[in-house]
Amino acid sequence: MKGVTVLGSTGSIGVNTLDVIAQHPAQYRAVALTANRNVERLFEQCVVHHPDYAVMSDETAAEQLQQKIQAEGLATEVLTGADGLEKVAMLPQCEQVMAAIVGAAGLLPTLAAARAGKRVLLANKEALVMSGRLFMDAVREHGAELLPVDSEHNAIFQCMPERFNGLEDSGIEQILLTGSGGPFRLVAPAALADVTPDQACAHPNWTMGRKISVDSATMMNKGLELIEACWLFDAPPEKIQVVVHPQSIIHSMVEYVDGSVLAQMGSPDMRIPIAHAMAWPQRISSGVERLNLFDVARLDFEHPDVTRFPCLRLAREVAQMGGTAAAILNAANEIAVEAFLGQTLRFTDISRVIEATLSDVSAQAAASLAVVLQDDATAREVAQQHVSRLEWKS
Ligand code: NAD
Ligand code: MG
Repeated sequence: MKGVTVLGSTGSIGVNTLDVIAQHPAQYRAVALTANRNVERLFEQCVVHHPDYAVMSDETAAEQLQQKIQAEGLATEVLTGADGLEKVAMLPQCEQVMAAIVGAAGLLPTLAAARAGKRVLLANKEALVMSGRLFMDAVREHGAELLPVDSEHNAIFQCMPERFNGLEDSGIEQILLTGSGGPFRLVAPAALADVTPDQACAHPNWTMGRKISVDSATMMNKGLELIEACWLFDAPPEKIQVVVHPQSIIHSMVEYVDGSVLAQMGSPDMRIPIAHAMAWPQRISSGVERLNLFDVARLDFEHPDVTRFPCLRLAREVAQMGGTAAAILNAANEIAVEAFLGQTLRFTDISRVIEATLSDVSAQAAASLAVVLQDDATAREVAQQHVSRLEWKS
């Protein structure tokens, strides 16, 4: 029986993770669940999964949850704040930590899980983008296992040789990182300035949280994934090519020096990479409907349009720069996306805020976590100023 802590259990990845856990009650048990402030959903999850701990980051929400847990007579202990998150990421009864908090808020508990030597099921790409080298060092130094859950990186991992030893020694020519192109792949660039949050969140193939949905619409998601892949597979950015593949059936590919190209395919459902990462090197069922190739019928591939999607260019530049540049890009993106979702910033100004922040805040060597968090905080302030300057007065 393996104990799993699910950080961000009320979100899209969290709910899918609990679905996979529930399908294998003899093998997996949720030992801790966490959420920001969704009391109702976390309570329902506690009733079903009986975790040892439930953490609400918001203090008032934690009090409300505590009352409901008591009234229900559950044995779950309620914790709150950053300390609570870090504690459940390091529990002795937990072997695996699903890192599914969205954004920079997930960094410290995810890092705590790595430092406690857990198997880290990594969905929270922002944590790795921000702290790249430091995070990978923590994984190595503390004997943690890092299993990618992001569907592309999970696919790449599945296409890698069993004894992966760096790209060159493994005979790998390049990584082909696929992406659907999002909901605006075919929308006229002139129309993009007026798109609404609901239009941006209506992804053609995947149902996800609102932040990553906007990232998919700007293609910043693919940019963050490019940086994520550099760290996970120790690859220089020029060895990673972005391929637009609108059907989202191939989840990424690896090209070898002999010309072989290996691809991982499946229905676009996150329970596949989640089940893979949980069970690796074994396989367990995920509950996902089988891929019907006759229904799919065709697969298309295109170059990404970097004029329409400037975020992709910015992320590639940042990947080449190294240091805290990626943390600055990530912070500015989080601020800009939040403003867009709050309808105070135009969709097309998201990339402007990020580019302006990158030119105002100079990156430095990511020598320590303190340095990364400092540049993250500075970039947030600067990005907020650019948001105010560009504010959408519709
Ligand atoms: P979501 O918005 O649906 O869920 C986010 C979860 O994080 C919720 O449980 C929420 O309560 C919690 N949370 C949010 N802010 C918090 C804070 N400040 N402190 C503590 N907890 C907080 O997001 P999602 O779509 O499930 O994505 C989660 C992560 O997984 C993101 O980093 C995303 O990039 C990554 N990811 C998601 C998908 C997907 O299909 N949804 C695919 C690949 C990667
Ligand atoms: Mg992805």
